[in-house]
Amino acid sequence: MDLAFLSAVEISRQVRARQVSAVEVTRHFLDRAARLDARLGCFLLLDPEGALAQAAEVDAACARGEDLPLCGVPIGIKDILCTRGLTTTAGSRILAGFVPPYDATCVERLRRAGGVVLGKLNLDEFAMGSSGENSAFGPTRNPWDPSRVPGGSSSGSAAAVSAGLCALSLGTDTGGSIRQPAALCGVSGLKPTYGRVSRHGLIAFASSLDQAGPIARSAEDLAVCLGVIAGPDPLDSTCLPEPVPDYLSACAASPAGLRIGVPRQYFSEGLEPAVERCVRQALAVLCAAGAVAVDVSLPLTPHTVSTYYLIATAEASSNLARYDGVRYGLRAAGSASLTEMYERTRAAGFGAEVRRRILLGTYALRSGYYDAYYRRASQVRRLIRDELLSALARCDLILSPTTPGVAFRLGERTEDPLAMYLSDIYTTSASLAGLPAVSIPCGLAPPADDPDGPLLPVGLQLIGPPLGESVLLRAAAAFQRLTDWHVRRPPAAMEIP
Ligand code: GLN
Repeated sequence: MDLAFLSAVEISRQVRARQVSAVEVTRHFLDRAARLDARLGCFLLLDPEGALAQAAEVDAACARGEDLPLCGVPIGIKDILCTRGLTTTAGSRILAGFVPPYDATCVERLRRAGGVVLGKLNLDEFAMGSSGENSAFGPTRNPWDPSRVPGGSSSGSAAAVSAGLCALSLGTDTGGSIRQPAALCGVSGLKPTYGRVSRHGLIAFASSLDQAGPIARSAEDLAVCLGVIAGPDPLDSTCLPEPVPDYLSACAASPAGLRIGVPRQYFSEGLEPAVERCVRQALAVLCAAGAVAVDVSLPLTPHTVSTYYLIATAEASSNLARYDGVRYGLRAAGSASLTEMYERTRAAGFGAEVRRRILLGTYALRSGYYDAYYRRASQVRRLIRDELLSALARCDLILSPTTPGVAFRLGERTEDPLAMYLSDIYTTSASLAGLPAVSIPCGLAPPADDPDGPLLPVGLQLIGPPLGESVLLRAAAAFQRLTDWHVRRPPAAMEIP
């Protein structure tokens, strides 16, 4: 039995039933990552010793009869989440050598649930990017076609699950960074409602948008992981107090009667026709199972990307002021004054995209410009939220493509930040509104610029009302019972080195 592509739920069941030990599972995935990852660049750090020690503890807990929901499940963590004793870089040189003395709350909860942390996953520097190419430590490649990007910023988190290097991973999503790479790598990813999952230990990019969430092989695996990591945390005051429902049982419900909103503005200019076909077929599958399509209108859609990039850069410029060479990470040597030390540390530590965003954000927050840019963007953000909520009053969830196209080539958009930012056209609205959203695989399509090229994954996005994760998982799991896109694997060439 090939463990590499089993679901987290299945691995956990087998370990609990003592058909395989957590140590065996962990060895299998560590070996696989050691063999395959040189070509993919998913992991920034593997922790064989720590993982095997944790796995041994899980086996001991099993022997005592403890019932752990993620028993022995091999997990990768986006390297923007703090891990006790394990170097955490946020994909940036400025954090070189930073070893957190604590685990992020979501990481700690995964460990307590029996999850085994294999290591830390690559990402765009400080989660700023849509391709993984902004990592200071080299790009991650898409397992479906290594000449293409896996999406970003949770590039390693999506590619590692797609390539069978871990069963489950944590990503973070500020404007699409869980959903967009999940879509481009053919896996499932869920961004929870803002505040559903604690941000304690998540290195901040844009605090009013950042959320951690799972990337996995199925809606059921997302449900189990979310059930573990969600819920109030005294260490994060923005964390919501509502009790955590049983997401796994939501997955069993029928889609019959679900009203699915289809926003006409999401099916217009810029959407690749092959992607649109897959998304419309997915809608037809759900409707054949008893769901009902409802036409909805989101006229503010053209303003979401600009609103997002104003708010996200403004918050980033403020959050990233803490990297001054004094408290953690890199410090440039040989400066004559404190100011020079700050300047040289920041110049050496931050990559081009991070510097661009600090500049943009600082500009938008300057006195005299604040009203024209940041305040304005905050007002538009509220209108976008109102518009989505009134659409969601007419339906149970909103359906759209996750991205306008399939995975693009490495290097194709690095010189053109605006083209890169437009990859986020369908994902930023849920982020601005704080709403939960999931991306699941719904087809394969060739790239628009190469009709004879490789078939690549297409993602279906579902957006729900506040705390509506259960309805998203219900629809996603129903779709996955009716189709097999989520169990497709990247071409066999990737499986054997
Ligand atoms: N691609 C978007 C950006 O570059 C979203 C990033 C994210 O969600 N972290 O900001």
